[in-house]
Amino acid sequence: MNATGRIAEARKLLDAARNEGIHVGLVPTLGALHDGHRSLMKRARGETGFVVVTIFVNPAQFNDPSDLAAYPRTFADDLEMCASEGVDLVFHPDTDEMYPKPPVTSVIVSGLTSSMEGAERPGHFDGVTLVCAKLFAIVGPCSAYFGEKDAQQLRVVRRMASDLDMPVEIVACPTVRDADGLAMSSRNVALSPEDREQALALPRALGAIADLVRKGERNVAALVASVREDLEIVDDVDYLEVVDPDTLERLDRVDGPALVCAAVRVGGTRLIDNMMVGAPQEA
Ligand code: AMP
Repeated sequence: MNATGRIAEARKLLDAARNEGIHVGLVPTLGALHDGHRSLMKRARGETGFVVVTIFVNPAQFNDPSDLAAYPRTFADDLEMCASEGVDLVFHPDTDEMYPKPPVTSVIVSGLTSSMEGAERPGHFDGVTLVCAKLFAIVGPCSAYFGEKDAQQLRVVRRMASDLDMPVEIVACPTVRDADGLAMSSRNVALSPEDREQALALPRALGAIADLVRKGERNVAALVASVREDLEIVDDVDYLEVVDPDTLERLDRVDGPALVCAAVRVGGTRLIDNMMVGAPQEA
């Protein structure tokens, strides 16, 4: 496995692979890797001939400097996981390498970014789309792997790639959960055992809404009201929304596939999760 923080060095290795006709798969991450990231690596390994994992805690997508400072960093362990998954290249630039000059170019996806994470974290998605556009330009992947865990991000990046005719397929990978149901996240390490107990209200609420939909409840206000009491255990609910899975527009009724998305705060940690409901196999 190769690892480099330099764009030029990464390009040299990638050019060599592409010259041999090998398909490149990209897994962009912020590091502090866990089994959710591992599932993306495995999918990329199964589908492409040269797998690149990028590890870059992108300041441009953090709207809160204290959140950026506190973000976990476990580089040595990350390298070990990448090696054990047969990754070909870990690209781990520092901020100066990625942003040698303050960028005056923006990549802004409107509409899809105006709600939920976009509304709660101003500028977040502008940072995500900027860094993804740069990583796509540096790596030149045929396929890039993103988790359903960050459902809005996945849709924003997919739309950016489509609108800008970027020659990359955006591959969605299912959310990986711990045995207790909590979606894996680099942020989970900050949860105390008590925080974690509270955090479990999040997947429980999503599961309860999915159950009610299966039983025939279609009214979104009733679905949301049904979990309000259980969610009172968390410190704050930033949002709980039922949206169209393609447009992310709010729904009043679940008459087909819908995405339930939520963000909560527990003991200083912000967690997001989502679940598809009303899909044909669930109806
Ligand atoms: P992050 O390092 O948190 O930016 O995540 C990097 C990629 O891994 C993103 O595409 C995430 O959606 C994905 N990811 C993070 N957590 C999970 C999870 N529990 N299951 C599946 N994918 C995940």
